[in-house]
Amino acid sequence: MALNAHHPLGEALHRVLSDDTAKKLAKSLDLDTVGDLVRHFPRRYEKRGELTRLRDLEIGADVTVQAEVKTAVTRRMKNRSGVIREVVVTDGRDTLKLTFFGKGNWTTGDKLNPGVRGLFSGTISAFRNERQLTQPACFLFGGDPDDAEAFTDELIPMYPATAAVPSWQLTKHVHAVLEALDVVPDPLPDKVRSQNDLVSLGEALRLIHRPRDYGQVQVARKRLKWDEAFVLQIALAQRRAAARALPAVRRVAAKDGLLTAFDARLPFDLTAGQREIGNEISMDLACEHPMHRLLQGEVGSGKTVVALRAMLAVVDAGGQAALLAPTEVLAQQHLRSLSAMLGPLAEAGQLGGAEQGTRVALLTGSLSAAARKRAMLDAASGEAGIVVGTHALLQDKVDFFDLGLVVVDEQHRFGVEQRDALRAKGSSPPHLLVMTATPIPRTVAMTVFGDLDVSTLTELPAGRSPIATHVVPVSEKPHFLERAWTRIREEVGKGHQVYVVCPRIGADDADEDAGPDGHPGELDETSARRPAAAVAQVAPMLVEGPLAGLRIGVLHGRLPTEEKDATMAAFAARELDVLVATTVIEVGVDVANATVMAVLDADRFGMSQLHQLRGRVGRGSAPGLCLLVTEAPEASPARERLDAVASTTDGFALSQLDLEARREGDVLGTSQSGRRSSLRMLQVVKDADLIAEARVAATALVEEDPALAGQPALVNALADLLDAERAGYLEKA
Ligand code: ADP
Ligand code: MG
Repeated sequence: MALNAHHPLGEALHRVLSDDTAKKLAKSLDLDTVGDLVRHFPRRYEKRGELTRLRDLEIGADVTVQAEVKTAVTRRMKNRSGVIREVVVTDGRDTLKLTFFGKGNWTTGDKLNPGVRGLFSGTISAFRNERQLTQPACFLFGGDPDDAEAFTDELIPMYPATAAVPSWQLTKHVHAVLEALDVVPDPLPDKVRSQNDLVSLGEALRLIHRPRDYGQVQVARKRLKWDEAFVLQIALAQRRAAARALPAVRRVAAKDGLLTAFDARLPFDLTAGQREIGNEISMDLACEHPMHRLLQGEVGSGKTVVALRAMLAVVDAGGQAALLAPTEVLAQQHLRSLSAMLGPLAEAGQLGGAEQGTRVALLTGSLSAAARKRAMLDAASGEAGIVVGTHALLQDKVDFFDLGLVVVDEQHRFGVEQRDALRAKGSSPPHLLVMTATPIPRTVAMTVFGDLDVSTLTELPAGRSPIATHVVPVSEKPHFLERAWTRIREEVGKGHQVYVVCPRIGADDADEDAGPDGHPGELDETSARRPAAAVAQVAPMLVEGPLAGLRIGVLHGRLPTEEKDATMAAFAARELDVLVATTVIEVGVDVANATVMAVLDADRFGMSQLHQLRGRVGRGSAPGLCLLVTEAPEASPARERLDAVASTTDGFALSQLDLEARREGDVLGTSQSGRRSSLRMLQVVKDADLIAEARVAATALVEEDPALAGQPALVNALADLLDAERAGYLEKA
């Protein structure tokens, strides 16, 4: 059957394969189109005759193994009628048991005699401490003449497969589709291909599915990675170009206005980085096109001051600024700290307020109706130069008089769509500044945040105390935990305050309050053993036991907002000594008098997240101490992660390590959605150079041919990507 010559990859699979097969592929592997199937790449390859290492198979894994039958016996079942055939296969060293019950696979099982080699596919289970495959699908070499043709190749592709569609059936289906694919239109422009020494797409697809040797696999992989990187970068380059073409109101701070008055009030000198980025931002704000800038910097590096100065410049120019925070607690805290930094400058119209001052309004979901109405009025009338809020700011009902700048704090919890919703609130699009304390490696910035310009604060303000971090291994040294509580009592004795962080809220919940890069579901040895420490259990335990007599408060995401705010306020006012909390305290919370943090079951958190958490202590002049309490055994991967956190204060290095330890889908925030990621080949961390090259090439092409008029195949590939994006891919919400 002839396929659509312009976009054969978009054709439904039943155009090429039988209806039954197409249905099965859709149902069990979510493969609907020709493109889906040919982009269902082999996970690995095995040389024909080279047996799979059986020792490495993990219980629960869906596997296809190449092995040789060692023994096979048929016996009667003990308690039921019928027979069972038990086959032991080997890789020459280790063994794996295959079990067949009557009927079904029986005929295949029957052919499994010592010496026979084949492929066996199924889910590894454990029975009496022995790994086995129950009723595996089998493919015997030299067996079925129908299948023989598909297996003449030297390298056998091993596909991500299911028992319903085992790997060797995929091999056959892929071959059938490749036969039908005559010419594959190439999304990469000729110039890009020749400059980077890349084979055509059709060639790459053939090589990836039917390679003769590993060299061909490499050639195919390079080309396919380029596809992914290039198409993604085209999408981002277009996004940038579109944003750059939008009109925006220029915002130039009036001389001797709010900003000048604020700078004069600052009790410290700006760091060189703060000054430099401040200049970048004022240049952006003075443009007729909206700024799209990402401001990243360690916790405590002074981003908020930079953002506030940008907001004041806009207010000086007659506009308004909105500051969007991810949680109520953070919005409240921003309000407090902005008000404190501004002093009389935030009290316009009030007794003692400065003449050139403005007002800061708070708008969150939990305000009383009256307070909410007043805040909305202040925003709509322009009375409030700065409006701080949560998602509530995104609602249609909220109007601004003249919104000139949107600052988004902690980017990772806001999706592109939400940013767009807020931007739509201005009569022309406001300028946008996104702040994040999660250090983002360069290539992730180029992919996930590829439509933003990036500024990085690399130095901490002077006078910041160093944080010492220690791992407290309670499984080997239980008395260390007592020492930790003693240390905490001493610290409180000196008038300081303490955080105790737990991964969970209560006894019966899994991972609420987990931060953006939390690994609550990560299954290593320890998490399988027992549930992680919970605030609801730890707090009473401390009250009655090791911290008896201290003033202990509790904070987590499930408390009513008033209670959360009251607790935070009490902690900030030193009315509490110890705060037992989940990661709600992770971002932005700023109590300079807090000097110690104990993280319980610290191995349940990601490295970046621990780094973020410990940024909460040592914000004042006293040195900070972070204790990572864990039961993870010495030399386990979990322990190594904690040791890494203890050994460096470099957030960038940790986030790089974190990324390397995680699957690609997690990097781009897609794994939870269960959807296939658009990136199959590309590894955001390892392929940094390739991504950078693709970015340059894509930017050049979009400049040259913004509508991609000369690249019909690229337009199709882009449409496919944007479909995937719409399905949640680039959205990080
Ligand atoms: P971030 O938002 O990056 O975590 P903040 O802007 O909240 O950091 O700054 C952390 C603390 O450091 C605040 O108390 C702030 O007032 C203070 N700070 C900011 N810039 C400087 C500076 N240049 N010198 C001294 N202290 C500073
Ligand atoms: Mg901050």
